[in-house]
Amino acid sequence: MKRLNLLVAICSLLFSVTSTTLSAQMPQNMKSYWGEVVFNNDDLTIRQIDEHTWVGSGKMMSSEAIYIIEGKKSAILLDAGTRIADLDKIVAQITDKPVTLVATHLHPDHTGSAINYFPEIWIGSGDEKSEPQYLGNYKGKVNYLTEGQIWDLGGRKLEVVYTPGHTGGSITLIDKEAGYGFSGDAFGSGNLLLFTDFSTLIATCEKMSAKMEKDGVEYLFPGHFFGVNVETVQRLKDQIEVSRGVLSGELKGGASRPGGVGGKYTITKYGFNIVYDDAQLK
Ligand SMILES: [Zn+2]
Repeated sequence: MKRLNLLVAICSLLFSVTSTTLSAQMPQNMKSYWGEVVFNNDDLTIRQIDEHTWVGSGKMMSSEAIYIIEGKKSAILLDAGTRIADLDKIVAQITDKPVTLVATHLHPDHTGSAINYFPEIWIGSGDEKSEPQYLGNYKGKVNYLTEGQIWDLGGRKLEVVYTPGHTGGSITLIDKEAGYGFSGDAFGSGNLLLFTDFSTLIATCEKMSAKMEKDGVEYLFPGHFFGVNVETVQRLKDQIEVSRGVLSGELKGGASRPGGVGGKYTITKYGFNIVYDDAQLK
């Protein structure tokens, strides 16, 4: 657990710098996707996105996002933050539907201690091998989402799309009807710590941008959400361009912050960072 705490502290530092950088770069006229505050305590602020969708901002890892996505019959809690006491009871104040916990990926700012309030968790396959330490002491049942799986909440369907890059098992959920999705840290979040390689990231960005164009999905809510930093097709194309530039040697990242995680180089362009290592240059 000591190692985990250290990682959380380091990530927190890294992200806090990024969020300041991001807010400084945000144009004044950018649309805010944050609605009314419906819950607030020392761990978490929850805001309404639309009638049946909410975003919670955790306060330990630079606005690590949790999402409550409600249908007529059931709801999904997407990610569980770093450390949010009584998250199950908080979520029950927002929705009276039965809630299932789904994680976009196994990192401690998305699958922190609050996962233990839930008897089961759904994740993409892959992370249980590459990031097994982040399931920590979870005693519940681990279930696996499959590519293309449709999760029916009752009058609202979410499609599972495998989006490896940030981690090997990262997933994105698409609500085609609503015209948006939820990407965790698969893309953007402002500061992408790359744990696979650039070719994987490029392939995933190409796959998702094509899907968004085909399905008319306008934007994705990321895993660290500051109210306006939704991912768009253009942003994914920017990430492809930057990744190709790094791979060809045309672009080169500078030194990452001392003591940071996720690699020794940071490339910054178009308002996002990709943090990587030599091993990811393939
Ligand atoms: Zn994260």
